[in-house]
Amino acid sequence: MKPLGPIPAGYETLDGVLAVDGTPVTALVEAAGGTPLFVYSAALLRARVAALRAALPQRLALHYAIKANPYAPLLELMAGLVDGFDIASGGELAMVTAAGIAPGRVSFAGPGKRDAELEAAIAAGVTLNLESEGEAARALTIADRLGQTPRLAIRVNPDFDLKGSGMKMGGGAKPFGVDAARVPALARRVIDAGAQWRGFHIFAGSQALDAEAVAETQAQTLALAARLARESGAPLPHLNLGGGFGIPYFPGDTPLDLGHIGAALEQQFAALPDELADTQFCVELGRYLVGEAGIYLTQVIDRKESHGEIFLVTDGGLHHQLAASGNFGTVVRRNYPVAVATRFGAAVEEEASVVGCLCTPLDRLAEKGGFPRAEPGDLIAVFCAGAYGASASPALFLGQGPAREMLV
Ligand SMILES: *Cc1c(COP(=O)(O)O)cnc(C)c1O
Repeated sequence: MKPLGPIPAGYETLDGVLAVDGTPVTALVEAAGGTPLFVYSAALLRARVAALRAALPQRLALHYAIKANPYAPLLELMAGLVDGFDIASGGELAMVTAAGIAPGRVSFAGPGKRDAELEAAIAAGVTLNLESEGEAARALTIADRLGQTPRLAIRVNPDFDLKGSGMKMGGGAKPFGVDAARVPALARRVIDAGAQWRGFHIFAGSQALDAEAVAETQAQTLALAARLARESGAPLPHLNLGGGFGIPYFPGDTPLDLGHIGAALEQQFAALPDELADTQFCVELGRYLVGEAGIYLTQVIDRKESHGEIFLVTDGGLHHQLAASGNFGTVVRRNYPVAVATRFGAAVEEEASVVGCLCTPLDRLAEKGGFPRAEPGDLIAVFCAGAYGASASPALFLGQGPAREMLV
């Protein structure tokens, strides 16, 4: 048997059925009209934000990177919980606008911003995290034509990356941000052009579970920002410290020690260099805010045996759960936390693989896991489905279409 990932805290069993916030998933599926279904828990989202607020310095603002999960009711809930929002496209700008989020709380990073996206962001008053000198020139030209003062920050490509990070976003040649050495000159150009200067955005990586690595990266980020501010000759109004807070997906993964990160950052804030004395700070988190608050429910359609192995064939699959299938940025396939939701907590009776309904061998939700015996009609739950599920999977593949989603 291959181990399954750790089931996140906060889920319970009611009469042998997995429950979210006191409601059995069978009732949730009925209310939603069927499977496959993503369920996001408002209580778990609130608890996560509260835990972050309790552990991290008060001076540190919390931003939500909406690409993790832009489901409209979830965005509307997050609008009342976090301080800012990070978007990465004109489409996401439309989503935050539709959720009633004030543009002054929004910043827009991402390479390849089209002129129309720059124009919409500048017109709305969103902060642009500039990814290159060329993008800066286009933004200034567009703002000039609109007669608007653009809010501009520079995304820095740092010379370090977040150790143990699942997805490296900094260090060396990258399509993201402006190389640190070229940042002061660009900052001067932007400030001299009359833009509203919004400082730096320094994002060094994702999905780290080692609090010491996160703390070390934050210390390096603060030092780099201070040096670049000094070399730019202007005070730094705002610094986005990036994120990288990871969640446990796989067997053996352990939760991030938030207390350690908070204490280390508190120490850093107590001894800031002059250049950062009046700076506002934020972190931008995606999966850490929403990942563990969501589950994906799919129904067993068929139970079959092949060469002595049991396959539970479901009505879901990688078209909604690319990451759980092991095809979204992982090198070695390992099992996500997966359970038979209608026999939740029951003893392991057999080894089985949970597969999706797509006609490709890539479509595996759990490989050779230990489960209670499941039959057609049973529900399977994939945990850690609140981030990069619906928003990062090829829903149109094989004509399947998107899953249902609900916030409870
Ligand atoms: C994707 C992304 C995030 C969110 O990453 P998580 O690993 O989900 O926290 C934050 N900032 C930037 C710039 C990103 O590209």
